[in-house]
Amino acid sequence: MQNSDYFIHLEEEYGAHNYHPLDVVISKGEGVWVTDVEGNKYLDCLSAYSALNQGHNHPKIKQAVIDQLDRLTLTSRAFRNDKLGLFYKKLSDMTGYEMSLPMNSGAEAVETGIKVARKWGYLVKGIPQNKAEIIVAEGNFHGRTTTIISFTSEEDYKKDFGPFTPGFPMVKYGDIDALRDAINENTAAIMLEPIQGENGILIPPKGYLKDVEALCRENNILFMADEIQTGLGRTGALFASQHEGVRPDITIIGKALSGGFYPISAVLADKSILGLIEPGQHGSTFGGNPLAATIGIAALEVIEEENLVENSKIMGEYMLDYLEEIPKKNIKDIRGKGLFIGVELKHELGGARRFAEELKKRGILVKETHTHILRLAPPLIIDKETIDWMLPILREVLLMD
Ligand SMILES: *Cc1c(COP(=O)(O)O)cnc(C)c1O
Repeated sequence: MQNSDYFIHLEEEYGAHNYHPLDVVISKGEGVWVTDVEGNKYLDCLSAYSALNQGHNHPKIKQAVIDQLDRLTLTSRAFRNDKLGLFYKKLSDMTGYEMSLPMNSGAEAVETGIKVARKWGYLVKGIPQNKAEIIVAEGNFHGRTTTIISFTSEEDYKKDFGPFTPGFPMVKYGDIDALRDAINENTAAIMLEPIQGENGILIPPKGYLKDVEALCRENNILFMADEIQTGLGRTGALFASQHEGVRPDITIIGKALSGGFYPISAVLADKSILGLIEPGQHGSTFGGNPLAATIGIAALEVIEEENLVENSKIMGEYMLDYLEEIPKKNIKDIRGKGLFIGVELKHELGGARRFAEELKKRGILVKETHTHILRLAPPLIIDKETIDWMLPILREVLLMD
């Protein structure tokens, strides 16, 4: 019998070490639960960074995959297929945007959003060629391509990977005055996460997103929201921007768009923006393939049919209420919206990793983010009974010496 140590050895020996995972070797997942190769069961409280909002191996999505595998997987966009149009229609009906552009990974969709915003800047706003600027926020996370890491504020993400792509002025997140000061006649867009996930579930001051939207309207600038992690129900709204009644010009989604079956991402916008892209100007061999389209439709249907947005809101509030009652022995701050919750530990404790390890021993999988923060983000299908099992364990660990 091959045990965890064997698989860990294989990964360490033959794979690049670009992650530092918890040493749990998962071989099966169902709903909110995963099982390791030794047969230990855990509650998944990370949901693959919110790609698993619908839970592991959702039966409806799985069936859609199986049915489509019997028919057709890939045509490339050189030809049409009988699924992509349905996917577009579903996305449009559900999100209210007139069009979408499908890609695979989140980073690709962000790259696509950048290209679309720049094109809009030149064709519609009349910015001189190669001068377009997209303002981004400190602490952002938008992916790992060379252009995207050009505007990260994380030293580790960009060190030794230059030279970088210019055109991305950076401002303090949540500071509307800083944003106003950074705008000039070459500003094509502002790109933000409505809540910064990787930066530790950082929620901007109330009214900020609304102010950003107004600033964009006043100055003829596109508001581009990266909702790859916060979107599709995670924060208790379909999109986190909606908490402030904001409708960005461009919304970027990924992760849960596939319910964890396959990388699927998309850029959402109206025709006045996405309609600017003409044949040959952008593409992807796998983007919009019939298997992905089928999975995407099923994943979106599950979000609707199982009221995952509402469940996220209710369960999230329930969790937050409980967590806030825990004595602040180790806790510096607790914040969250829906089932997107960050517990920031006191920095003198030297990091959240050992709390994550302790939770693992007790059957709960979480991952530390930014050293001191535990992100609690279980699949949105989680029920009260499971949360009631989890909370006392969390409490115990958050009170340990
Ligand atoms: C995960 C994530 C990305 C990148 O998505 P990948 O699929 O890993 O390329 C971009 N933006 C945000 C906010 C994310 O959480």
